[in-house]
Amino acid sequence: MLLKIRCVMVLLVVFAIQAQAAAPPFDIVLRGGMLVDGSGAPAKVADLGITAGRIVAIGDLGRAPTRRRIEATGLVVAPGFIDVHNHSDEDVVYPAYRAAPGMIRQGVTTAVFGVDGSLDLEMFRTLKARLAASGVGVNFAAYIGHNGLREKELGMANRVPTGVELARMKGAVRAAMNEGALGLSTGLMYLPGLYATTDEVVELAKETAPYGGLYDSHDRDPAFHLLDSVAECLTVARRAGIEAHIAHIKAVGLHNAGRSEDLIRMIDAARARGERVTADAYPYDGATTRLVAEILIPPAQSEMASDLHALEDPELGEASHSNTVLALAAAWRKALANPDTRNEVKALTEQPHEGVFSWVMAVGYDSFRITRSADPALNGRMIVDIATERGQSPFSVLVDLLIEQGAFIKLTVGSMREDEVRTFLRTPWTMISSDGREGGLAGGQGHPRYRGSFARVLAYYVRDRQVLSLEEAVHKMSGLTAAYLKLSDRGVLRVGAAADIAVFDPKAVQDRSTWENPAPYADGMRYVFVNGVLALDSGEATGALAGRFLPFRNRGAGTTPKPTP
Ligand SMILES: [Zn+2]
Repeated sequence: MLLKIRCVMVLLVVFAIQAQAAAPPFDIVLRGGMLVDGSGAPAKVADLGITAGRIVAIGDLGRAPTRRRIEATGLVVAPGFIDVHNHSDEDVVYPAYRAAPGMIRQGVTTAVFGVDGSLDLEMFRTLKARLAASGVGVNFAAYIGHNGLREKELGMANRVPTGVELARMKGAVRAAMNEGALGLSTGLMYLPGLYATTDEVVELAKETAPYGGLYDSHDRDPAFHLLDSVAECLTVARRAGIEAHIAHIKAVGLHNAGRSEDLIRMIDAARARGERVTADAYPYDGATTRLVAEILIPPAQSEMASDLHALEDPELGEASHSNTVLALAAAWRKALANPDTRNEVKALTEQPHEGVFSWVMAVGYDSFRITRSADPALNGRMIVDIATERGQSPFSVLVDLLIEQGAFIKLTVGSMREDEVRTFLRTPWTMISSDGREGGLAGGQGHPRYRGSFARVLAYYVRDRQVLSLEEAVHKMSGLTAAYLKLSDRGVLRVGAAADIAVFDPKAVQDRSTWENPAPYADGMRYVFVNGVLALDSGEATGALAGRFLPFRNRGAGTTPKPTP
């Protein structure tokens, strides 16, 4: 016994000497900040010490030696935010977006890529390799994607895969899981995913079960079959024995108004049965913003078709983009003067040919709201309401607006009721996402969520409207998301965790991106650390590339419920 005590004492002395010898013990001390630790627990004032990319102390570090001391009094110190649905994998491979300024300026330090079914195995590998070689501003994790896998095997064919094709797709899922993928993502609303049966998706999802994989679903038809689409997501996960996640949950369009309650009830019931289901939501009442000139579907051989095609070129500069939009609007004006063309366009838009994406088909006229009009009285009004008032069809209203205002008139497409946006934000199993991209903002096009989602939650829904408490909001941006992703050392402020940290002024944090102009970065972030490296220092982006790939490691693998047939 005495010997034991002696040993312990010797060890303690050794530790004490080591601690003194290793001066200065901290790389950085954040002094006096309001710590919101990501767990949902009440905020508390404390200092936080960082060394070698990790949080190594929390408490009173007022006199501790440190290489740098940052005064954080009056600022919130939170875990770096995790964007669980992000499309910037298309952008951060380019030098201009590598440092991910749109995310860093909102305190986002980890992004989840490969959503909506986008990445096949080769793309998944290429993304990892390219970002490992070039460096990247934020950490990232990624799904292997059903659309990518299916397109690789079957192209755009509308049929079930053969046994051989399915076996190859399953092999690709297994390979991706071995290489750190989170699980399977789908985009069943988009081609070629929409050609797949539920069984096909289940077969692929099952391959992730031995790894405790996750199933991330962009539901099949959220506008017109909302409840069935979410039910399909739950079915896939239940049959595969894995965890379900509903991407950007919402109740789009007037015909779905009020359905958020049904949806929440359905998911609560599944959770009560022991199924593991979560979702994410972005804090806006519309899915995208479009010019009317982009919503109508032109005949294949028309000038409009070639202009629309030109607009899809990612290399198109801002000036060429604006010119092409003007040419497109002019071509529409001329074409729509002809009643035959008008009828043809109506048919193409409302019943598009197979494989053609139509916003009218996808989300319905009753989700179209005017965001910008030369006649300010129309701003904010629903297209279907104007149609009723004028005794016209919604199509005729769009055509008239296009003829009168050309490329000026802009619509929010996929809009939903503000009270339902709030309902989803408040739901305890809903995380915050952006569904955004670093790029794609040429010519003022795009969505404010790209550069605004996280700041908007903190500014509008926490500070200005008190829809969420600060602790709840931070939890939904960090701890809750990390728990879903099985990132055991991120999304929380605790000793030993990776030093992904967002420090912001709760009074000044503000999204600046709008429907009108989605490009401005958010304000109010002061310091952002990615793996202990400052990506934002005193409000200035440093361009640091301290992010890394976060391979999926589910310690719970093998404890998933038994798959049911
Ligand atoms: Zn998406």
